[in-house]
Amino acid sequence: MKLTEIFKQNKYSLSFEVFPPKTSDVYDSVKHATEEIARLSPAFMSVTYGAGGGTSQYTLEIAKNIKTEYGVPSLAHLTCVSSTRETVRARIDDFKAAGIENVMALRGDIPQSMQNDDRSNWHYRHAVDLIADIKVSDADFCIGGACYPEVHPESANQKEDIYYLKAKVDAGCDFLTTQMFFDNNLLYNFLYKIRQEGIHVPVVAGIMPITNAKQVERAIHLSGSFMPQRFKTIVDKFGGDPVAMKQAGIAYATDQIIDLFANGVANVHVYSMNKPDVAAAIQANLSDIVGKNA
Ligand code: FAD
Repeated sequence: MKLTEIFKQNKYSLSFEVFPPKTSDVYDSVKHATEEIARLSPAFMSVTYGAGGGTSQYTLEIAKNIKTEYGVPSLAHLTCVSSTRETVRARIDDFKAAGIENVMALRGDIPQSMQNDDRSNWHYRHAVDLIADIKVSDADFCIGGACYPEVHPESANQKEDIYYLKAKVDAGCDFLTTQMFFDNNLLYNFLYKIRQEGIHVPVVAGIMPITNAKQVERAIHLSGSFMPQRFKTIVDKFGGDPVAMKQAGIAYATDQIIDLFANGVANVHVYSMNKPDVAAAIQANLSDIVGKNA
């Protein structure tokens, strides 16, 4: 099923993200976690893609399993940075042959070793180049793109970031998923601005439940997200007690999602990252809301 069909239903929905194993020895544990999360019958599940391409085969396999074995719509991520047109075309063909219907088209982070390279001869400098290539292929994917309520770290400012986001949507993005954020007002402000600029595709809100203190630093490092004082206080108070921190992090994420639903954001993607217990706890907290008309 194409994700746009799900968004059209206008029901409160939760979806979950998994990441593929880097090596074959942990494949079974990732498969098991994926299966457990699929049992929650989320609206869809996404599978990330290693920017260096190391886990690409697993992304494909896991996304295929989610759809065919567990009956849950799947979204396979695909990154293009440091790839040639030929390898990307081959990936697109593989996805199509595997029956994948939904693809998240991303640039990926530029590896440290390539930061100073001359980029003028790169096939793919931005996600928009990948979207354009998918569009001219004969694969009829529903295409997602990434967006950044707090501005992508490489952008000079939000105006510029939204300008290029619009180009991505005009090139063929059917929906957008946001980077994680911990203050919903940042999203509401962003949504207002992108709608003003003529971006009207569905926007799925990305929520990361922080369930241990170490994750906080990593999340800020990866996303540059602003941590509201309310959240910092929770981490200061419970960060040293893993069980309490997990419960508090799940409660914070649940609270964020309820506020999003109440303010008209019907589709929430949870970065629960191969943790079925966290996904299940959030789903249970929202069991009388998810699936109802928004
Ligand atoms: P782009 O859309 O190319 O944007 C990157 C920067 O370039 C922005 O500053 C943008 O404003 C600017 N820009 C865009 N187009 C142009 C243009 N034509 N000219 C000049 N500037 C331009 N990474 C992974 O490796 N694997 C994953 O599976 C993965 N999944 C993700 C899922 C989500 C929902 C999000 C939010 C991020 C994900 N990432 C993933 C991280 C992502 O790859 C990085 O944030 C990356 O730095 C940017 O990717 P993008 O697709 O947003 O890039």
